[in-house]
Amino acid sequence: MSDISNSINQAIKSVVGLGPVGLHEPSFKGNEAKYLLECLESTFVSSVGKFVDRFESEICNFTGSKFAVAAVNGTSALHIALLLSGVKKDHEVLIPSLSFVASANAVTYCGAVPHFVDVDEKTLGICPKLLSEYLKNISMQKNGNCINIETGRIISSIVPMHTFGHAVEMEGIIKIANDYNLSLVEDAAESLGSFYHGKHTGTLGIAGALSFNGNKTITTGGGGAIITNDKEIASKAKHITTTAKVPHRWSFNHDEVGFNYRMPNINAALGCAQLEGISEILKNKRTLFNRYKKVFDDIDGVDLFQEKNNTQSNYWLQTLILDESKSSYRDDILKNTNDSGYQTRPIWDLLHTLKPYKNCPTAPLKNSESLEKRIINIPSSTYNNS
Ligand SMILES: *Cc1c(COP(=O)(O)O)cnc(C)c1O
Repeated sequence: MSDISNSINQAIKSVVGLGPVGLHEPSFKGNEAKYLLECLESTFVSSVGKFVDRFESEICNFTGSKFAVAAVNGTSALHIALLLSGVKKDHEVLIPSLSFVASANAVTYCGAVPHFVDVDEKTLGICPKLLSEYLKNISMQKNGNCINIETGRIISSIVPMHTFGHAVEMEGIIKIANDYNLSLVEDAAESLGSFYHGKHTGTLGIAGALSFNGNKTITTGGGGAIITNDKEIASKAKHITTTAKVPHRWSFNHDEVGFNYRMPNINAALGCAQLEGISEILKNKRTLFNRYKKVFDDIDGVDLFQEKNNTQSNYWLQTLILDESKSSYRDDILKNTNDSGYQTRPIWDLLHTLKPYKNCPTAPLKNSESLEKRIINIPSSTYNNS
């Protein structure tokens, strides 16, 4: 075992104790069972019920968003957010290659094409500086649209993703969106509880998507939400996620092709209980970060990724970044930590290398390619830490 592998193993052990310890496990310490039972007893377990309304209003309270529409998962929330922000068939949408596959899939569901761009090593999210240089070279403006000179397609939107809960440098992204006539949709699936200059991630553009999958900061089993400050987008989102049924006491009139994407009441019941505990969860995640920080500060060749100035991270997944000179040890570290019962994992394969996406337009991705080889997520649950 290499020295660095050994040190990292020892460091994790000193913080989380003896394994096995998972990467990220949910905790149900509050009213989860109570609300689920209440939901069963009400018989309203499906897509209408008081927990859905309550969950949406509590998401608004927590994020400061004016509206929230709960959906079956984060991917469907992002799909709807993109559709309502004006993404159409054969458009291109700028997304980071360094992301989870759902970001690209949601674009594809719209009939649009992902256009992969590079990230900033400081934030792990889209780099505004590299992007504006890139767009200057590859695009032109025509009739108020941003056109990709190479493909002739309209580039209609930009979708920053707040990796592992760390906010993208949104000021630069907002400027690019304005300068190039792009709608701004945030993939905030990983960043519930993360803020940029005091504003909740997902609220800085036209719409944002949250995820409440089992491995996220809080969970509804499976679930997501579209958040927006735009009343019309919110009411359209609610309409098309509920099969576009025109409200009526008995008739089945649907005025467009809708989706069955609405979050069931039983999932929202779980969500209401989870949200009651979110400040405790966020506090514990920060404590875990600080404990890791102490031990990783003493290990050469590796950094624990830390929130940047003027941002507040939810520290969803704790993240190690190996120095360039140590990247060849990544697999050895993954093997040794997993063998010792500490679930660690590399970051996702870059999206532009995946079979369905390898022919999509792609900017130079120097930072993404370097980071992909050097990132390791380490156990990030909060249960063994409170
Ligand atoms: C989890 C996640 C999603 C999708 O969420 P699901 O609820 O799993 O559909 C989208 N984008 C990113 C970056 C994610 O991490």
